[in-house]
Amino acid sequence: MIELFAEKKDCCGCGACMNICPKTAIHMEKDEYGFVYPKIDTEKCVECGACKKVCAFQNEPTRKQPQRVYAIASKNNDLVKKSASGGLFATMAVQVLEQGGCVYGAVMQHEEHELHIRHVCCETKKELYHLQGSKYVQSSLGNIFKDVQKKLKNDIFVLFSGTPCQVDALKSYLRKDYPNLLTVDIICHGVPSEQFFNDYIHYTQKKIGGEISEFKFRDKSSGWGYNLTAKYIQVDGSTEYYRTASSDSSYFDMFINSIALRENCYHCKYTNGKRTGDITIGDYWGIEEEHPETLEQNGGRLSEKNGISVSLINSDKGIVFFDEIKEQFDYYESTFEKAAKRNTQLVHPVKLTKARKNVLDMYRKWGYGAVEFYFWCRIPKQKAKSIVRRVLPKETRQKIKQLLHK
Ligand SMILES: Cc1cc2nc3c(=O)[nH]c(=O)nc-3n(C[C@H](O)[C@H](O)[C@H](O)COP(=O)(O)OP(=O)(O)OC[C@H]3O[C@@H](n4cnc5c(N)ncnc54)[C@H](O)[C@@H]3O)c2cc1C
Repeated sequence: MIELFAEKKDCCGCGACMNICPKTAIHMEKDEYGFVYPKIDTEKCVECGACKKVCAFQNEPTRKQPQRVYAIASKNNDLVKKSASGGLFATMAVQVLEQGGCVYGAVMQHEEHELHIRHVCCETKKELYHLQGSKYVQSSLGNIFKDVQKKLKNDIFVLFSGTPCQVDALKSYLRKDYPNLLTVDIICHGVPSEQFFNDYIHYTQKKIGGEISEFKFRDKSSGWGYNLTAKYIQVDGSTEYYRTASSDSSYFDMFINSIALRENCYHCKYTNGKRTGDITIGDYWGIEEEHPETLEQNGGRLSEKNGISVSLINSDKGIVFFDEIKEQFDYYESTFEKAAKRNTQLVHPVKLTKARKNVLDMYRKWGYGAVEFYFWCRIPKQKAKSIVRRVLPKETRQKIKQLLHK
């Protein structure tokens, strides 16, 4: 009998095995925390082994080293406003759509009182808005690889965007390079499950007294950063907005502090300079230290208020595409080392701590309320730490630590 993965850390949940199975013998199933894993129906399985061969996460495919690195933002402010950082993705997507191509990416859809995060195909500029912005939740790929392959075989230009493991999975599924395929991978911190996210949404709904129909992690109304905004429907049918600081959101805390991520994210092999996409996109955190001359306030063209991306151009195809559209960006050359300094996801995976096991155990036993409780107990300690960090010089803090450990 085929064993798809020995341990949970060996499966990223991309579903390439499900897509490739000639007998449709594989489906995705949730575990107790809501993370999806493939499962084989042994009655249907003919043990052809296609599922094991296609698994990019367990095999070692060829990846590319960045050839160029930029600090960059789109000149189109409308696109930048709706994007997480510099609107790089949307600008590339518009170009592809204008050439008659199509764009695959993650959307968040409100259906049957839940928010679903899934990959879709976008064919018009009007729909593109839904793909913009980061959804810090695992996106479901469903049977999308089959759809991408059909488009490629029909000579349609395709831009596929996703996490590095999703891009690698697509390439492994396709088995050959298509000249009409451009891939974009995001610098990725890791992903919590859709179930965990919806439990947070349900909890928040009880607090605000309405049904959340839209949720943004990167609302730009107060600038570039993590600003959470939910659009919700009140009992009388009217809509309202609920805004919360990321530091006051239990879900965001569990995401950003790597407490509730999928198990393989802690062992991710894509968190380095070998990239799966033709182009890699992320936030240029630390730009003020690495390239202060590029910022508006210092006479440069990039705005920290609007958002600044980092872009790694990793392949010849990526270079040709970028050169075609570079006039649409404000950009400055950078280096991988500079970009990686404050973006550790380019150097190593996030650290697995005891907190993950504790929180997920509590979540399984007592539901999301226990996660909220844990979060509110953690906050005073975190806030105290950040005040101490601001007030006391590093040497003094180190001396105190030494004293405490004696
Ligand atoms: C789960 C996750 C973790 C991230 N971690 C980091 C990080 O540690 N460091 C960093 O610099 N940047 C990270 N990013 C990327 C960052 O948030 C921005 O997406 C990036 O800066 C691009 O911004 P943009 O303005 O060009 O485009 P945007 O319009 O903001 O980006 C949209 C793109 O992101 C894709 N996308 C959105 N949500 C998902 C999802 N759930 N799964 C797959 N693809 C998705 C869309 O398909 C589209 O391609 C992360 C993004 C996600 C989704």
